[in-house]
Amino acid sequence: MTDIMKYVVPKETWPDIIIPDEVQQYIGDRKELNLAEEILDRNIKEGRGRKVAIYFEDRRVTYRDLYRLSNKVANFLKEIGIEKYDRVGFRMRNMPEAVAVNFGIMKAGAIPVPLNPMWAKKEIVHVANNAEIKAIFVTGDDKTFKAVEESVPEFKTVEKVIVTEREDLKEPFISFNEVYEKSSKFDPVPLELGTPAVILYTSGTTGLPKGCVHFVENVLSSVYLVGKYVWKLTEDDVVGGPAPVSFAMGYGNGCLIPYFHGAATSIWPGFSVENFFRFVEEHGITVFSSLPTAYRMILANPNLDEYLKKYDLSSLRLCTGGGEALGAETAKKWQEKFGMPIYESLGATEMVHICISNTVAPKPVAGSIGWPVPGYTVRIVDPETGKDCQPDEVGNLYIKGPTGIRYWNHPTRPLDEKQKESVKNGWNVLGDFVRRDENGYIYFVSRDDDLIKSSGYRIGPDEIEQPLSQHPAVAECAVIGVPDPEGIRGQLVKAIIRLKEGYEPSEELKQDILKFLEQHIAKYKLPRIIEFTTEPLPRTATGKLLRRVLREREAQKQQQK
Ligand code: ATP
Ligand code: MG
Repeated sequence: MTDIMKYVVPKETWPDIIIPDEVQQYIGDRKELNLAEEILDRNIKEGRGRKVAIYFEDRRVTYRDLYRLSNKVANFLKEIGIEKYDRVGFRMRNMPEAVAVNFGIMKAGAIPVPLNPMWAKKEIVHVANNAEIKAIFVTGDDKTFKAVEESVPEFKTVEKVIVTEREDLKEPFISFNEVYEKSSKFDPVPLELGTPAVILYTSGTTGLPKGCVHFVENVLSSVYLVGKYVWKLTEDDVVGGPAPVSFAMGYGNGCLIPYFHGAATSIWPGFSVENFFRFVEEHGITVFSSLPTAYRMILANPNLDEYLKKYDLSSLRLCTGGGEALGAETAKKWQEKFGMPIYESLGATEMVHICISNTVAPKPVAGSIGWPVPGYTVRIVDPETGKDCQPDEVGNLYIKGPTGIRYWNHPTRPLDEKQKESVKNGWNVLGDFVRRDENGYIYFVSRDDDLIKSSGYRIGPDEIEQPLSQHPAVAECAVIGVPDPEGIRGQLVKAIIRLKEGYEPSEELKQDILKFLEQHIAKYKLPRIIEFTTEPLPRTATGKLLRRVLREREAQKQQQK
């Protein structure tokens, strides 16, 4: 084995990893395997070669097509000198080739590192140098390609950049057309269990993205459990959504999970409300998986009723998603309009994909993230006493299962310290505050850095932002804690609101907003300070609200005073 393990945080700091019996049985007594062979090629052996694996606009890509193209990718990588455990990045807009690239990297025995197409140069350079990526696949459209092109001078280890849809390229760029000329036969290189298979970088909500290393059996377990228990997939299913397949959640949705279960994916060129209706109908989507933003945008669309009348959505059996709080209001509205619930889930890059979900609870509850997925155990721990919380008490989410936190530990940005904070007695601590009711339903309260501590209460910004965003004047809003100048309450709840067009800031409007909020939340959670802004609120590339940036601005303001 290469020295790959030297980049993984020390073994003493790892969480407990428990591979469920059923996954263990699937693995049998094998000591090594190739994930692409298990997830993709098995479909060929089991007679699904002619079955559609990917729906993309008007294209239909069969399992055999995907098998062949991924073999070509693997042959290409071998020829340019990629070896076992080398890291190969891909930043590709959604298209079937991106999925083939992922499987090709795996088949070559290399480690895929998806790079978010929405990242800017800063994040691309950081991730490429941090993971010591040797080659990157990129799509040639300006939007995806330009930032990579600009990053090239700052790359330290990247030798080749393979570009689709562009010709006449100079070193280090190579045309993806060369891939098509390779042989469509390849013997996948197996990787030992207990060694890295995939590196996924986090969203970077709290700072620069962190590399999460997932070993062969971790990835296999997540793929197995999410498909079986969260989405309950059969070969007839089509899992669709707008998320980029070359990043975290979309990677699980579009590059991994459905294929293991012989199902198909519908990957979208991008999100629009009409795309949702069109692709559900045309591709026969059965499982829709997305970040909450897509649900909110669909519900807010002025043509919603018209679309509902026009399109046949009868294939759809499950709407699910996570990544950010969805909010009970959105879930209720969806139920009213679509006659079906949204099964909210919680996932994290550190856990590969979803690990808590309403789909595994007896029935979905709006506002809750559900129950732990089979294979995972959850504790809710009081951060002060370290004891388990009583029902409805807010505490730190501890989780344990077949996946867990092992950060990529590059010498220039060692994550040993972060690792130690994130694993307590074998439990993964994702940094989320939650509570669990008497029926076992877990509710997301706040990321720990966003938690507001006011008059002894722990308040999550989401519980105020969700109802606040329902006020007719509010275009978008964020809630943060700011220091109480009188030093009595610890922190005060502050709301920052961007108004919809046609509304002007006024004292009257503030009062109206507070009155509106009083109907939805407890008095002690009401914002003490309301600020109007005309600027869009800061967000990560994936659209997550960056309350950290708002707090930093607030601290600067305080200093200037
Ligand atoms: P970083 O770790 O780089 O700061 P991040 O935590 O946003 O970024 P991800 O791994 O993409 O990176 O996101 C996982 C986190 O997203 C979870 O730990 C949780 O805070 C949040 N999250 C996921 N699902 C939900 C949900 N349904 N409701 C609320 N928050 C969620
Ligand atoms: Mg995180």
